[in-house]
Amino acid sequence: MPDFTILDAPPQQNANAAHQKTFYLETFGCQMNVHDSEKVIGTLTQQGYQQVETEEAADLILYNTCSIRDKAEQKVFNRLNDYKKLVRQGKRFGVLGCVAQQEGEHIFERAPYVSLVSGSASYRKLPEMLVRLEQGEKRITGLDDRQTEETFETEFTARSNPHRGYITIIEGCDKFCAYCVVPYTRGKERSRTSTSVLAEAQRMADSGYTEIQLLGQNVNSYRDPERKKSFAELLAAVGEIPGIRRVRFTTSHPRDFTRDIVEAIDAVPSLCDHVHLPVQSGSSDVLHMMQREYTRDWYLERISWIKAAKRPISMTTDIIVGFPGETPADFEQTITLLHEVQYDGVFAFKYSPRPNTPAVNLPDSISDEMKSERLQILLERQREIQRQNYSRHIGEVLEVMVEGHNRARGQVIGRTSQNKTLNFTTAQPILPATGSYLPVRVTTSFPNSLVGEAVA
Ligand code: SAM
Ligand code: SF4
Repeated sequence: MPDFTILDAPPQQNANAAHQKTFYLETFGCQMNVHDSEKVIGTLTQQGYQQVETEEAADLILYNTCSIRDKAEQKVFNRLNDYKKLVRQGKRFGVLGCVAQQEGEHIFERAPYVSLVSGSASYRKLPEMLVRLEQGEKRITGLDDRQTEETFETEFTARSNPHRGYITIIEGCDKFCAYCVVPYTRGKERSRTSTSVLAEAQRMADSGYTEIQLLGQNVNSYRDPERKKSFAELLAAVGEIPGIRRVRFTTSHPRDFTRDIVEAIDAVPSLCDHVHLPVQSGSSDVLHMMQREYTRDWYLERISWIKAAKRPISMTTDIIVGFPGETPADFEQTITLLHEVQYDGVFAFKYSPRPNTPAVNLPDSISDEMKSERLQILLERQREIQRQNYSRHIGEVLEVMVEGHNRARGQVIGRTSQNKTLNFTTAQPILPATGSYLPVRVTTSFPNSLVGEAVA
């Protein structure tokens, strides 16, 4: 599910040796980008670089970028502008990810001090590109690999959390929704072999990970190149690895959401009871204009499978408001869908026209004011749904994984299998360790979180 915040990956080691090659990397965008950055950091470290905390301390400054909406892309150019004064100190700049792929060599014109521009489909070639950079080349590009069948696999992923980690199982996207840049920036859909995914999951379990999140722009469009496992079988196999207590997967596409995914969740307790299934709109007309290739009823059928599961499965979604031509009646259908499904979370976005996408040329664009108004209405209605949904947990005992501590509030921060935050207090003198699991009784609820007490 999307989380379009800026994340600074923590430094691997401290940078005190001025002569050592150092880099700073900042990540913008979704979990896919965060995990790509973990792999890029591993690759750079393997090449003898040391990660540092600030642009000022680095020889090489990298931005791993997102272009899903307008502002995300602007942030990168602002950041490049803010730090261009460092060029005089001999620092090198590189732009990676979706803005790099989308803007290509124009970046060299807009920011001439940038030396490296690479889309995610070319990350396999990073070691070679780094050597060219060190040899002083000024204009290095990795932009021509969007038709590749290969995925970016490395043994040197620098995961920053020792308990839960990501594994990308499928890269790219072939769906070409009318509003979306991803198929143009991340290239064609390509899956890793199930053997390679399971070997990575096993290595993570061996080094103490208990939670694994499988990633893909459309994770359930996974097609094993070895034809050994379907997506549901792969999910189950990861969940059956000894030591793995939680498996999550995101993002699922409704078109490829099959019943056996729910059956796998029913059969394997470590598969978390949460499905993120972006609908985008509750109106079949708008879905048609968006080129989503499903209707409201077709989507709701998948929801009915999820609702019929043995365990209650939490559902979340993504919605775009103000797509060109969205009428008040279309928007109302999105609101009624929220009530019908009863989501536990909605990531709602105002439609943002993106370069080179078919929707840019559609008539009947909606004013920004109208988009904001619809977004506001939607968020308010959804808040009420969540307030009720979350309140149903009061009195339940839920298992949480401890994520950290909020000392100011005297609370431990936990996460449930349904991906809900459950902050709690404990009567024990020693606080439970990060990464541990324990049962917590829910005492209070809010629209986005729960509060409880550890069960002694
Ligand atoms: N592949 C997933 C799917 O189709 O359900 C979604 C991946 S996309 C990176 C994440 C979300 O960004 C989408 O679900 C959509 O809601 C939103 N998004 C994509 N393009 C957008 C645009 N042009 N304007 C606003 N939101 C957009
Ligand atoms: Fe974008 Fe559609 Fe692909 Fe999702 S399925 S990444 S929204 S083109």
